[in-house]
Amino acid sequence: MTVLISIVAGVLGLTLGSFANVPIARWPQGGTVTQPSRSACPACGAAIRARDNIPVISWLALRGRCRDCAAPISPRYLVVEVATGVLFAGVAAVWGLDPLLPALLVFTWALVVATAIDLEHRIIPNRLTYPLPGVLLVLMVAAVAIDGDWTDLRRGLIAMVAVPGVMLALSETFRLLRGKVGIGMGDIKLAVSLGLVVGTLGGLHLVVFAYGTIISAGLIAIVLVVAGRATTASRIPFGPYLAVGAMLTVLAGDPLTGVVRAWLGL
Ligand SMILES: [Zn+2]
Repeated sequence: MTVLISIVAGVLGLTLGSFANVPIARWPQGGTVTQPSRSACPACGAAIRARDNIPVISWLALRGRCRDCAAPISPRYLVVEVATGVLFAGVAAVWGLDPLLPALLVFTWALVVATAIDLEHRIIPNRLTYPLPGVLLVLMVAAVAIDGDWTDLRRGLIAMVAVPGVMLALSETFRLLRGKVGIGMGDIKLAVSLGLVVGTLGGLHLVVFAYGTIISAGLIAIVLVVAGRATTASRIPFGPYLAVGAMLTVLAGDPLTGVVRAWLGL
């Protein structure tokens, strides 16, 4: 049964990953998901045919080039589709038919979009961070209405304020001490949704999330500095690390909170 749910979620992820490429390409340019209604090749303007819009398969069949003008199509399209498919399958394999599954899949999709845009443009658009907590909250209230226990969501609502609050305080402290912007406002706005979801999963999940974010940021910073691709002063987008920390918590929250519990002697 879990295998079946995982496969269905994986296929859904490939499709929604393909759709995620629309806001990823358009939002940073100020465009919207619905306008224009059809996607076109940015090089020659030819409309993308339906048969060239199949997730993963089309990109591979076209060998990453436009059918009309042979201009290269960014590998980002393929990476986003595969990543969304794999993450959806993983989340469904871990959570099964839990009432929280729809909210966790929406959350996963949003983190893929935020990561792709932040890596390329160093921003996380308000078009994503403003509606996201509302959408998640509706799905999570629906989930609680099914199982009737409000304790977890109450903790999520507190974390929804506390997590961005702590990040804002850290960022302001850093700014006062160093005279530089610490954490971007886009990251802090995204943290409203991060706090809501991770806080609902559990109190110790917030610890796992914080460590996952800090450790992944530290590891990548070391790799970049060693590879000569960055200095210790380079501004590295922070959104992707928040996304890694959050996905780690969603996918491996139970074993990792066990580690935290043993470590704290609880
Ligand atoms: Zn073209």
